[in-house]
Amino acid sequence: MAATANIITGLSRIGVLLRSQGWQRTEATGLTPTQTQILVYLAGRGPARIGAVAQEIAVSQPTASDAVAALVRKGHVEKQPDPDDARAVLLHPTAAGRDIAATLSIWPDALLKAVDSLDPVEAAGFLKGLTKMIAALQERGAIPAQHMCVSCTHFRPNVYSDAARPHHCAFVDAAFGDASLRLDCPDHVEADATARLESWTRFRKARVHV
Ligand code: SF4
Repeated sequence: MAATANIITGLSRIGVLLRSQGWQRTEATGLTPTQTQILVYLAGRGPARIGAVAQEIAVSQPTASDAVAALVRKGHVEKQPDPDDARAVLLHPTAAGRDIAATLSIWPDALLKAVDSLDPVEAAGFLKGLTKMIAALQERGAIPAQHMCVSCTHFRPNVYSDAARPHHCAFVDAAFGDASLRLDCPDHVEADATARLESWTRFRKARVHV
């Protein structure tokens, strides 16, 4: 119980830094945190429909629509017809929107240095713990689906005896270790519920590998 409280306290401390950075970005760019999230998502994953955007950042569709309308007015996003459905619209970041998104994606220097202070074993253990927490939150519907290895159809956890690289990614056909677990992979394909549970069970049982 003490560990639980201490972990949550620690996460909230890091959250203070990220919130502070969010407000600094708001002042520097004139974008609200919701507009910032949408622009960064569209620059990394776009184009996308408004429903997918709302789901990704866990806001209602009206809230996402208001934020997108503001981004369109500011010239950061444009609407184009969806080639797959004449009645639908896809949101694209403009060149100016991409430039701003690139600056918004830079992590605070203090946070980068703090993460770099971890040795490889600590970093791998931390990433594995984060992966488990995020997957548990996702399974409970507390956060939107994440593009992470443990829910990916290409993930084969603990299939090798090599302690440094026990997992396999079928997409790139290569082995990898816990330190390379992805939390936001562009090649992620969501596995079905049965495969996810199987993969999750196999992944959870193993110890940390670097
Ligand atoms: S495709 Fe990406 S998310 Fe899927 S297993 Fe490979 S690295 Fe992980």
